[in-house]
Amino acid sequence: MAFNPIVDEDKCQGCSECVDVCPVEVFEIQGEKSVAVNAEECLGCESCVEVCEPGAITIEET
Ligand code: SF4
Ligand code: SF4
Repeated sequence: MAFNPIVDEDKCQGCSECVDVCPVEVFEIQGEKSVAVNAEECLGCESCVEVCEPGAITIEET
């Protein structure tokens, strides 16, 4: 099974919590928004979902 992390740009506040918590460095802040630059590395652990206060991240199973 593969996972695809999706950031809702409208909800993201650019706090970097997801960047810090992700064990495989999926996210990068670009222009004050988080972008899943290494989406294919996602392990589906959902740590980023838990730390994202505005609930901007969803993990899609593919
Ligand atoms: S944790 Fe949520 S609000 Fe913070 S940068 Fe990541 S996606 Fe944006
Ligand atoms: S689910 Fe885990 S591995 Fe995937 S992007 Fe979030 S923190 Fe990283």
